[in-house]
Amino acid sequence: MLKEMLAQAKTAAIGGHVRPDGDCVGSCMGLYQYLKDNYAQIEADVYLEEIPKPFEFLAGTGDIRHGIPKEKVYDLFICLDCGDKERLGFSAPLFESAGHTLCIDHHISNESFAERNYVVPDASSTSELVCQLMQDDKISKKTAEALYLGIVHDTGVFQYSCAGPSTFMTAAKLLEKGIDAPRLIRDTYYVKTYAQNQILGRALMESILFLNGECIVSYIRKPTMKFYGVTPKELDGIVNHLRNTKGVKVAVFMYELEPEVYKISLRSDDDVDVSDIAKHFGGGGHRKAAGLTMEGSFYSIINRLSAQIESRLRNRS
Ligand code: 5GP
Ligand code: MN
Repeated sequence: MLKEMLAQAKTAAIGGHVRPDGDCVGSCMGLYQYLKDNYAQIEADVYLEEIPKPFEFLAGTGDIRHGIPKEKVYDLFICLDCGDKERLGFSAPLFESAGHTLCIDHHISNESFAERNYVVPDASSTSELVCQLMQDDKISKKTAEALYLGIVHDTGVFQYSCAGPSTFMTAAKLLEKGIDAPRLIRDTYYVKTYAQNQILGRALMESILFLNGECIVSYIRKPTMKFYGVTPKELDGIVNHLRNTKGVKVAVFMYELEPEVYKISLRSDDDVDVSDIAKHFGGGGHRKAAGLTMEGSFYSIINRLSAQIESRLRNRS
């Protein structure tokens, strides 16, 4: 599918979702590098919002475009790790105007909004899917690094249930390209700045258990982020610490985007489908990891969320 669509393109744009995470950046940069290495005849560009600092070592990140050129129309737009058109953010007009569109994704909430869609909800990551669509002998070490990073981040370093046999086989294939996996995992997944660790500590200390200890919530407001000098994308991972609380079935972490507007991350064990809850409020994601944006005070949001979580906890089989 990818090969076929690339064969007809002279220009190609690659775009991912707003607030790009490891899988989004990994899949986009991996594909970009693959095109640079093997499709010199295609003029390729990547469109992403600003990426987290630890990912900047990946090849090609200096070329990322953060705004769209006037009147540029691409033959092909490849949309990665993105479940709906709105989540493309600023690059959506390029998707709209492109001659052809392809979407590669693993979100259960994906609406198959492109001309061609390769959507596998059971896949560990978009990076794994992108790797499957590539020709093995054409994957360079730089491409391997990016795709490996994407897989590592969306599987929580190969621990989540979405990491199946095909994930490990894909990872093995990428390791054979000579990447330094332990270093990549440590530097991009585990290492946090001092300020990030402090704000994590604060979020854990102020967390609240509810629904008989089956739910946990914590939130960080803008003034707190300012106090610690931490930006929203540096709060990634806090929700996973909340989830690891004994007895907890659903973890909720919220941070303020603007006054009374919160970005919310939901995590669950197998009992509750959090993508369903996120979708109810206009978000999306996966069964055990989903996200959304909601307006209102912390208490009004948690009341609305709590009602949805409780009914699903009651109805679990
Ligand atoms: P996170 O909580 O780490 O931001 O996101 C968890 C998962 O849910 C990711 O796969 C992410 O792409 C998806 N997700 C997060 N926020 C949103 C949202 O606002 N809308 C949709 N459709 N998906 C989201
Ligand atoms: Mn992903």
